[in-house]
Amino acid sequence: MHLHDLTIKKFHHGLMNKEFSAFEITEAFLKFIEKKDKEIGAYLQLMSASALRQAKDVDVRIAAGESISKVAGLPLAVKDNILIKDELTTAASKILETYRASYDATVIEKLRALGAVFLGKTNLDEFAMGASTENSAFKITRNPHDFKRVPGGSSGGSAAAVASTQAIASLGSDTNGSVRQPAAFCGVVGFKPTYGAVSRYGLIAMASSFDQIGPITKTVEDAEILFDAIKGKDPKDSTSVEINKFQISRQRRGSPEAANFKFQDAHELRIGIPKEYFIEGLDVEVKDAVNKVIKDFESLRFKITSISLPHTKYALASYYIITPAEISANLARYDGIRYPKTQSRRKVGTPIKTSKKLVDLYCKNRSEGFGEEVKRRIILGTFVLSSGYYDAYYLKAQKVRSLIKTDFDKAFNPPAGGVDLILTPVAPTPAFEIGEKIKDPLAMYLADIFTSAASLAGLPAISIPARHLPKDKLPIGFQIIGRPFRDSEVLKVGKLYEAIYR
Ligand code: GLN
Repeated sequence: MHLHDLTIKKFHHGLMNKEFSAFEITEAFLKFIEKKDKEIGAYLQLMSASALRQAKDVDVRIAAGESISKVAGLPLAVKDNILIKDELTTAASKILETYRASYDATVIEKLRALGAVFLGKTNLDEFAMGASTENSAFKITRNPHDFKRVPGGSSGGSAAAVASTQAIASLGSDTNGSVRQPAAFCGVVGFKPTYGAVSRYGLIAMASSFDQIGPITKTVEDAEILFDAIKGKDPKDSTSVEINKFQISRQRRGSPEAANFKFQDAHELRIGIPKEYFIEGLDVEVKDAVNKVIKDFESLRFKITSISLPHTKYALASYYIITPAEISANLARYDGIRYPKTQSRRKVGTPIKTSKKLVDLYCKNRSEGFGEEVKRRIILGTFVLSSGYYDAYYLKAQKVRSLIKTDFDKAFNPPAGGVDLILTPVAPTPAFEIGEKIKDPLAMYLADIFTSAASLAGLPAISIPARHLPKDKLPIGFQIIGRPFRDSEVLKVGKLYEAIYR
């Protein structure tokens, strides 16, 4: 078995059938990463010693005849804004360059208890702000399909790691596309759960009313396995919920419950194609690929209907008002004192630079510690929240957010003949070149145009590689958006596509 062929499912199968040990596979991945990551740059840090220990523990449990979970021994990469106790957690920012986490994020705690193996921490845009991973303070990550191109962002390291066989699966975070878009650019699957389905405890906050941790995997089936392992209500995150409770039976025409949905029920499901997503500026290749996917679903007997989400055109603008506001509040804590630059050598509480005046100290630490994009958003956020501008920008954007949610509610409204799922492109273009947009923030923001509405509405959304692409072409993803808390429906339909067309 080649590392390349391993999915979570195949790995678990092989492990159970004693085709290999968890230790052997972890060792093989670590060796491969040593070589491969020189050209990709997916990882910021490897955790070889602890990974081998974790793998060994799983082998011992198997030898003792214990039953193990589907993710036991699984070599996993973790975005470097998710806390793993005692490990460096930088969010790709200089201001956290030598910060070591003092606790595990809830998702890590859960995966650790299930026996997952953490190979290392992956690169991202600083504090998850960006769409190309070029905003990392530390390094560039390259798209495994074309080294001249970006892997997408902000979870570019996590997507590139999976796409280049440097992990079987990974965790990313998605505030507005950061799991979905890099997955699309790298030809893998990325799933953003419903807001609240996964605990945010221990995820370094970017924009708290949007942030969600999600899996990046080779298959939809794997995304579901990883999602099942990390989801659930967490007392440490009051916005988290037990989503199974919400999977109430479907009201319409006795149509199938998500949980029991079968291929032969496909014709019961309606997929909406929002016209606002097929606009000028959409790359022809993306348009063709997504249109062919729509045809595929049609031949699977899904009902395809054209729908309208009229406020879509304001999604990106309101996202880039609301999130900077949240960012400016969340990032106020980084004063250079609380998260000391060199924790090992300095005592906790020792600032980066000493200065007589407190204000000077903050200015110095924050000017030197944050990169350009982060500063841009803090300034923008402070501006839209300031008195006199609050109503004109922040409040208005929040109203638009409600309208966007209402668009979806209407589209999904069963009595009004609404749809069950919505299918769109993930990004307006395939992976762009390194350096192409980095000097033009607005051009970079436009990469989020098709992911922002689902994020504003907190809906589950998955990015799946489209088929029908000639071998030498860059990957293109399509997005399936579902009703709130109907994550399993999105995954199920994704799995169906995958089972038929992969
Ligand atoms: N491109 C988005 C942004 O820069 C990505 C945010 C995210 O999902 N972390 O805000």
